Amino acid sequence: MGYYCTNCNYKYTKDNKMPAKCPYCSSAGTIKKSQTAQDLLNSITDEMEVVEQSRKERSAR
Ligand SMILES: [Zn+2]
Repeated sequence: MGYYCTNCNYKYTKDNKMPAKCPYCSSAGTIKKSQTAQDLLNSITDEMEVVEQSRKERSAR
């Protein structure tokens, strides 16, 4: 889990807490949470499992 600045696109994974302003460009309120590639992969995998599950339930009839 990390953060990035929507103003300058600076990415960092420093603290668990979201900083009030960007450490790079000092803009306030531009910090957004960013998912790592692994987080993204995990959520995609979860979705696929749900799809797979519903497909199985349908074909069981
Ligand atoms: Zn910034």
